[in-house]
Amino acid sequence: MSENAWFSADYRQARGRFLDAAADVGARVETHENPVPGPNGGPLATDVAFLGDPQAEAALLTFSGTHGAEGFCGSGVQVGWLESGLWREVPDGIAQIHVHGVNPFGFAHLSRTTEENVDLNRNFVDFAAGVPVNEGYESIHPILCPEVWDDEAETRLAQGVAKYTEEHGFWAFREAATSGQHTHRNGIFFGGTTPSWSRLTVARLLATHCSTRKRLAVIDYHTGLGPRGYGERIVDHLPDTAGYQRCMEWYDSDCASPHLGTSASAKLTGQMLDAIEHGLPQVEVTAIALEYGTQPENQVISALCADNWLRFHGDMSSSKGRDIKAQVREAFYQDALDWKQAVFERALDTQRRAIRGLQG
Ligand SMILES: [Zn+2]
Repeated sequence: MSENAWFSADYRQARGRFLDAAADVGARVETHENPVPGPNGGPLATDVAFLGDPQAEAALLTFSGTHGAEGFCGSGVQVGWLESGLWREVPDGIAQIHVHGVNPFGFAHLSRTTEENVDLNRNFVDFAAGVPVNEGYESIHPILCPEVWDDEAETRLAQGVAKYTEEHGFWAFREAATSGQHTHRNGIFFGGTTPSWSRLTVARLLATHCSTRKRLAVIDYHTGLGPRGYGERIVDHLPDTAGYQRCMEWYDSDCASPHLGTSASAKLTGQMLDAIEHGLPQVEVTAIALEYGTQPENQVISALCADNWLRFHGDMSSSKGRDIKAQVREAFYQDALDWKQAVFERALDTQRRAIRGLQG
């Protein structure tokens, strides 16, 4: 194992390693170029590596970088899976689709959101039917998104969150702040008002490569919630469904459900995995998010708020801007061997279980 060679220092390196690894194993690669330039004018793209029989009835589908800067984790897993030869464990009859940098703007610019400041994992709502209403966010927005970010900003933020939590409870804060909102485009956890470029890219991918399959195992890699290095398997299938039952069987009940209050995550609206399940009604979809802890939650929230301030009020090229980007990177990626090993070990166990599950 050589985790340090699989987990990259920036988007450019991650993309290069993924494309190299895909080429080395003879994967077919599809590239979806994002129209917005990356840092220093470099290209931004979502790259997809395909292995196995394109017509296979079953497929393993992995995503990295749904939340931009969280992409270091999933990218490292995808590169390691290919480079180490572990991908060969997948038997004939199961295709593999590895989607790298599904939100390439956020990955490259060290932000959780897309070029539209959209939280991609809150953007998969039926806009024609009307967006979900999150009344709680209104009073939280001024706490999380101040116009001034100075040396006292984190203290004011912590005090504001503590006051809200005292009055309404911890879970009320978490739901209101993080479940998704569609009213403040300059706010955090903004689900957007139209489908983002990344969502449209995912929709094209699903229509072209997944809609005629019989069984699909989906693993969406995330970071920033829970204990450092621990990977929580979050199941969003409703608890009384066959999808939920399959997750419990495949993953030996080692899963958490926001619907049952057993997850570090709140119940979210506009999630990608829900949209995959409901958008492919003829496919048996078994989906989890694998969510790894990094730093204590107050530090992660601070980094998110600082980054949001930077995007709308700050100067990216200032030393303060660079400090905030370093803070975001730490909040969503731990450049430490013990963390990378823990991430990879859990991912490997999870992908092996998914493959066994697909075999029935
Ligand atoms: Zn995430």
